[in-house]
Amino acid sequence: MDTFPWLQPLQERITQLATQRRLPHAMMISGGAGMGITSWLTWFESYVLCQHGSLRPCGQCHACQLHAAGTHPDGLRLQPDGKAQLIKVDAVRQVVNFAHNTAQAGGQKVIVIESAERMNTAAANALLKILEEPPAGTFLLLQTDDMNALLPTIRSRVQRLSFAPPTKEQSITWLVNKGVNEDTAKLLLALHYGQPCTGLAAHEQGILVQREPWIRALAQQIRQPMLNTRSLESFLTTEPEVLLRCWTSWVTDIIRVVQTGSTEGVVNLDMIDQLPRIAEQYPQVQPWFRLYDALQDVTQSARLNNNLNWQLLLESFWLRIPSILK
Ligand SMILES: [Zn+2]
Repeated sequence: MDTFPWLQPLQERITQLATQRRLPHAMMISGGAGMGITSWLTWFESYVLCQHGSLRPCGQCHACQLHAAGTHPDGLRLQPDGKAQLIKVDAVRQVVNFAHNTAQAGGQKVIVIESAERMNTAAANALLKILEEPPAGTFLLLQTDDMNALLPTIRSRVQRLSFAPPTKEQSITWLVNKGVNEDTAKLLLALHYGQPCTGLAAHEQGILVQREPWIRALAQQIRQPMLNTRSLESFLTTEPEVLLRCWTSWVTDIIRVVQTGSTEGVVNLDMIDQLPRIAEQYPQVQPWFRLYDALQDVTQSARLNNNLNWQLLLESFWLRIPSILK
């Protein structure tokens, strides 16, 4: 299992509470997306299930082997499901039944619910039953990316766990240990809100290389608008959010440079020479804001619309660029 130095203190805290027999039965952890939280949740499961209960799950005992194979009968992991990415009441009813059943391996049981804010109201209400009276020997951990979206009745019944996100140095070291060179590591972190795992995933997908033609095409469409969409053709296979996020970050950087006259705080670190030149050519900030808003609109449509005609959406944005910048 991957290790994340910034999650070590949390691991130690859990171990300490468990050793003192004070580990709460219902816990919640907020955030951690892009920082290794998914792996950490797996560690937590194996920690509860391992027959040896040391700081590290032993990886050798029968429980650890079953867990590694994903077949331990006393561990249950729930994630949002379907196109709408919801956790529905049927799934939570299974959790409730599971919590009330006797552990099959004779040890403890563990339930992990990822993105718990995706529970609809019926699901959240069903979960309250086990939060009010947690069955003995069962540990429930909710992970959420948006704590405020959880019902207050749930929030008040779980013990919050917290961790400090990685420092910049920790993230850089972690990425360098993964074989990324230091400058690339810095760029990946700048582009991905300081999230090392998201940065690494983007790197492995070759996003850094792909984004150059994306940005070049947008700059070209700003400089010399084309009334056709030929230059877009090769981008249509890209995931809408990835492409739009890339353009948005570039436009945001230009706005920053236009407004402050400095490249301080820009995220496209490898374009630090190019950004001031563009800002100089187009020194009015309003058109850039309009372009930013248009990108936000397209992003929103791409996110909300399940039957998206991505090509149509992208092309209509593209052809509007000249009028947006007028
Ligand atoms: Zn074990």
